[in-house]
Amino acid sequence: YYNILAHPILEEDKLRGIVILILDITEHHKLEEMRKEFSANVSHELKTPLMTISGYAEIMKNGFVKEKDITEFSSRIYNEALRLKNLVDDIIKISRLDEKNNVFDYEEVNLLSLSRIVAERLKTQAEKNNIKISVFGEDISIIGVKQILDEMIHNLCENAVKYNKNGGKVEIRLTSTKEHKILSVIDTGIGISRKHQSRIFERFYRVDKSHSRESGGTGLGLSIVKHAATFHNAVIKLESIKDKGTTISIIF
Ligand code: ADP
Repeated sequence: YYNILAHPILEEDKLRGIVILILDITEHHKLEEMRKEFSANVSHELKTPLMTISGYAEIMKNGFVKEKDITEFSSRIYNEALRLKNLVDDIIKISRLDEKNNVFDYEEVNLLSLSRIVAERLKTQAEKNNIKISVFGEDISIIGVKQILDEMIHNLCENAVKYNKNGGKVEIRLTSTKEHKILSVIDTGIGISRKHQSRIFERFYRVDKSHSRESGGTGLGLSIVKHAATFHNAVIKLESIKDKGTTISIIF
């Protein structure tokens, strides 16, 4: 996409030449398209749970629900309200990371202790499906924003639990080379086939929509991970084999 501007050069009322400015606005155009697509997706994603909530609430309000079905109806409303809350929380997180003028508190963050805190937090959720989370490796620290790093590790581990198999394993491993510090989240889960691998970091992209929904997913988790990694000048490496498992590494 281009913007073309032409400007005549006059000398004593005679045309001496024309300056033509060609601006490549492809990047700008792409960002604009992405923003439009994001807004369209957001409204769709917000509307779905809202419609369900108002639908069920209306039936209950009109007294059409039998006494024995009240628990069932209210739990459906509750679950959709929770989904809505997760969605709004994730959208806020993304816009906070998108906001260029935001001021954050940088500090030395110990990735080993932070990983242990996240693993502990997800233990109950993992144990429900007989999944073991463990943290291994070196005592590594980086300069960063603790809350963002926490959300990043949390989202990676939560996915490693959600898309795992009964009795599976999740491991957070911390290693370092001369130039890099690496945090990897390794799981023995369902894996991601090659054709989906390049897309899962996109906003709202899910391989299996119903599985993601059932486990309370918003489709924004990995998008937040990508933002958080970029924010810390880190790159992401994804290795996955369908039915075998996934390893996502954040290379600082
Ligand atoms: P969601 O809220 O759906 O989990 P994410 O952005 O976190 O959204 O992930 C996008 C999609 O990538 C998921 O719906 C899932 O299909 C896939 N995915 C993410 N992490 C894993 C993983 N560790 N193993 C298998 N599939 C995964």
